[in-house]
Amino acid sequence: MQFKDLATYFETIEQTSSRLVITETLGKLFKKLHADDIGKAIYLLQGRVAPLYEKIEFGMAEKMVINSIVMAMQLEKVAFVKDYQTIGDLGKAVEKYKNEVKALEERDPTINQVYKELHDIATAGGPGSQDIKVRALAHLIREIDPLSARYLVRIPTGTMRLGFSDMTILDALSWMLHGDKSSRPAIEKAYHVRPDLGFIAETLKTKGVEGMEQVKPHIYTPILMMRAERLASTEDIIKKLGECIVESKYDGFRLQMHYSRKKNEVRLYSRNLEEVAYMYPDLVEGIRKEAIADDLIIEGEAIGFDPHAGTFLPFQETVQRKRKHGIEEKAKEIPLKLFAFELLYADGVSYIQTPFKDRRKKLEKVIKRTGDIFKDTIIVAQENLVSDPKKLEIMFDDAISKGLEGIVAKKMDGVYQPGARGWNWIKFKRSYSSKIEDTIDCLIMGYDFGKGKRVDFGIGAFLVGIYDEKEDKFCTVAKIGTGLTDDEWRKLRDECNKYKSHTQPALYSVDKAMSVDAWVKPAIVVEIKADELTRSSVHTAGRVMKASKSGSAFDVDVPGYALRFPRLQKFRTDKRPEDVTTLHEVEKMFKDQKH
Ligand code: ATP
Repeated sequence: MQFKDLATYFETIEQTSSRLVITETLGKLFKKLHADDIGKAIYLLQGRVAPLYEKIEFGMAEKMVINSIVMAMQLEKVAFVKDYQTIGDLGKAVEKYKNEVKALEERDPTINQVYKELHDIATAGGPGSQDIKVRALAHLIREIDPLSARYLVRIPTGTMRLGFSDMTILDALSWMLHGDKSSRPAIEKAYHVRPDLGFIAETLKTKGVEGMEQVKPHIYTPILMMRAERLASTEDIIKKLGECIVESKYDGFRLQMHYSRKKNEVRLYSRNLEEVAYMYPDLVEGIRKEAIADDLIIEGEAIGFDPHAGTFLPFQETVQRKRKHGIEEKAKEIPLKLFAFELLYADGVSYIQTPFKDRRKKLEKVIKRTGDIFKDTIIVAQENLVSDPKKLEIMFDDAISKGLEGIVAKKMDGVYQPGARGWNWIKFKRSYSSKIEDTIDCLIMGYDFGKGKRVDFGIGAFLVGIYDEKEDKFCTVAKIGTGLTDDEWRKLRDECNKYKSHTQPALYSVDKAMSVDAWVKPAIVVEIKADELTRSSVHTAGRVMKASKSGSAFDVDVPGYALRFPRLQKFRTDKRPEDVTTLHEVEKMFKDQKH
C-alpha cells in the first residue's frame, strides 16, 4: 500500500471520536494491508517505527523538524515559524505549505519505503547524525503529498497520538479476520506474551488465529507482567488457595530481566515495559555472572542494599536509583539486589504454563548462589509453605516488622498469567485506618485552570478516572482540587501540558458536569488514596444510564463510583494508562469495604 492511502486512514481516524468507528476503520485498513506491510503500518499508526517497548527515539527536537520542513520547500524560516505559531499545529502548517508549493519531486512512496527511511532517521547516530536526520526528513517531506506530510512530521515530533489504545488495535485485528470481535480473546492472550502488535498482526496474516496459540515468550520482548489480587484476611486467603507458597512483598520496583549469553546482552523492563538496563549496571553485571542458562527471562523486585550494615533499604531510598544521571556513583552508594520470584523462560523452554511450585524449583537451578548476601546480586525470594491462617498472620506481622509491605500468597499449581490480575497471586498488605485498604491508580483525564491563587499555577483541579476494561473506556471517579503542595501543582501542570488535547479523547467517558477546561491525552498515571468509595451520579465509572439517554444526571439508572476525600500519593511513571485500577477492581473494593 502507498503511504498516501495510509494517510487518508490517519485523517478519518483523527476526525472520529467513536471508538466503534475507529475499530471498524482500522479493521478495514488491516484487511487491505499485506503481511509485509501490516506490522509497519501499525507502528506508524502509533507514531513509531518499532513496538512501544523498544527504545527507538527519533532524537529530533521540534526545531530540527522545522529545519527539515524549510529545507524541503526552501521556505523563509522566520515566516514559516510565525505562520506555524498562528496555526498551532506543525502538521497542518506543513500541509498548508505543501499545498501552496507544489513540488515536482512527489513520487508517491509505499508504506515500506517511508517506514524504512523513518527507521534510518531514528537509528542514525554518531557525529554529524543530526544533520543527516534533518536532510533525510527534508527529502521525505519533498517526496510526499500534503496530507501525508501532515502526519509524517507528527512521527518524529511524537505528536501522532490518534487517540486509540492497543486494545482497539486488538479488536480491529479480530475485525480484520471476521468482521467482529470474536477472536479478540485469543489475540489478546498472545499479545500478553508478546506485546509486539506488528508481530501479532503479521502472524495473523500468515497463520490466521490458529497462529496465536504458538506465540511463545521471546528474549528481548517483555512479557506483560502478572499482577496480584487482594484479600482482606488471612482466613480468606487460605480458603481461596488452600496450602500455598508465601513470600514477602518486597517494597522496591519490579523488573523483568532478559538475558542471552550468546549476545551477552541484558535488558531490564519496568512495569510499563520501558527498557531500563542503562540505569542498573550492577544488576546487569549480576545476571551475567550468576545466570546458569544461555537464555533466560526472570522477574523480581529490585531493592536497595546498605553495603555497610548488610540490610535492605526502604522504598524512598531504593527509588533514588531511578535516575538518568550520576548512575555509576549512585550504584556504588545504593547497590541493588534483585529478589527473583519468577522464571518465565530458560534455554528455549517457556515456563509460563508450568505449575508455580515447579517453576520455583527450576528458578533455583538457573541462578548461581553463594548464599552470601554481600556477594550475590540475584537472590531467590524465600518461600514458605503455609496452610494455617494463624501462621500466615504471624508471617505477615514478621514481614511488617522488617519494614516490608506485607506478603504475597501464591497458588501451588498456578500458571503465570501474563498481563492479568488473577487469583494465582494474592497480596495482603497492612490495612490502613481508612475504609479502603489499598490505593487506586488513576489516569489524569483533564484539568481546570483554577481560580484565586491557583490562577498563577494555571491549574486548580484535575479529573481522574479508572479503566473499564470491558468497554475499553476511561471513566471518571474524582475531581481533585486540594491536598497538593505548590510544587506538586506546578509539576502536575507541566506534566499535563505535555499531553494536552483540544478535544475530549475518544476513550474517555465523562459526564457534562465533570467537563474540564483542558483535556489530557491518556498518559499520566497517579496513585490516589481515598477514605472511601461512594456512589455518585456524576461520575461515569460503573454508571448505568436509563434507556432515554438524554445524557443528564437525572437519567441515571445505577450511579457510578466516586472517591471520597481523594489525595494524590505519587506519580506512577512505571504504569501505562491501561494499567490503572480497573472498574472490576473498584466494584470489588466497594463490596469489600468495611461499612
Ligand atoms: P501495589 O501498589 O500493591 O504494589 P501494584 O498495582 O503496583 O500494586 P500488584 O500486582 O497489585 O502491583 O502487586 C504486586 C506487586 O508487588 C508486584 O508488581 C511486585 O512489584 C511487588 N512484589 C513484591 N514482592 C513480590 C513477590 N514476592 N511476588 C510478587 N510480587 C511482589
